[in-house]
Amino acid sequence: MHEINHDQFVFSFSAKHNPILRVQSGDQVVIRTQDCFSGQIQNDDDLVSSIDYSRINPVTGPIYVEDAEPGDILKVEIQRITVGEQGVITTLPNIGTLIHQSEIRTKTVPIMEGKTIALTDRIKFACSPMIGVIGVAPAEGEVACGHPGVHGGNLDSSCIAEGAVVYLPVFVTGALFGLGDLHASMGDGEMCGTGIEIDGEVEVRLTLLKRGSFSLPTPVVETKDAWYVISSDHEILKAIRKASEFTQLLLSERWRIDMTDAYLLMGAVGDIQLSQCCKPCPVETVVRVKMQKLPGMPCLFGA
Ligand code: CA
Ligand code: ZN
Repeated sequence: MHEINHDQFVFSFSAKHNPILRVQSGDQVVIRTQDCFSGQIQNDDDLVSSIDYSRINPVTGPIYVEDAEPGDILKVEIQRITVGEQGVITTLPNIGTLIHQSEIRTKTVPIMEGKTIALTDRIKFACSPMIGVIGVAPAEGEVACGHPGVHGGNLDSSCIAEGAVVYLPVFVTGALFGLGDLHASMGDGEMCGTGIEIDGEVEVRLTLLKRGSFSLPTPVVETKDAWYVISSDHEILKAIRKASEFTQLLLSERWRIDMTDAYLLMGAVGDIQLSQCCKPCPVETVVRVKMQKLPGMPCLFGA
């Protein structure tokens, strides 16, 4: 089992970053992460207006996967997520639909016995950890960790939780994988701009699926009960269309039905879900199309 600490981080996904670890396909890694504010907010008096915004969304990594080549698929099994003892949730300037009638406010929240989040003395809810930022280096240039894309990045999708498998397209040699931005809880859409932001530890297994007949144009997540195709765009309808198009193609190819039958199936049991829709342009909205697993449904990738 490899281990990497939260002090080995980057603020963008890019082939220019030197890997901090090299692994073989099938290896497991424990990845420790800082929260999305790089720990700059420790109590309720620390407002987002006073922190250094160049240190937002650190991702621990990148990890070089031996033999990974463009066109491969990186399978990331999320085997465990353990979050820290205190999280923080804040409003953000100019972010979200209600900021015009809300204050800039920081709330630090204890995670009681690793299970319960106490927003106030009276308002409590379950801790349900998930990963906000997960991805690989894009084909060219660099993408700040606060942005989503076909390489992954800031997907903020609640389905990326313990037990899920994330499939990412590989664009550069070695893949250059990283993750960060854990949430102890985050509602779909991340309405106020943050979830319960927190540091923590994630155990993953990284497995390479070598280039096959099928190439992956966008991140896909598998859970016990469903498949999710994730896409992003500046316009929500375009994001929905992109995710829907790939879902239709996957269903058609894997279930050997024509595109129209796939479309009908999507209408009957598919769900359009919002991952992230709190950001103004030019930051993208992230959506996912969920297809519940049906009896006899073929596996979409690998085994
Ligand atoms: Ca995020
Ligand atoms: Zn976050």
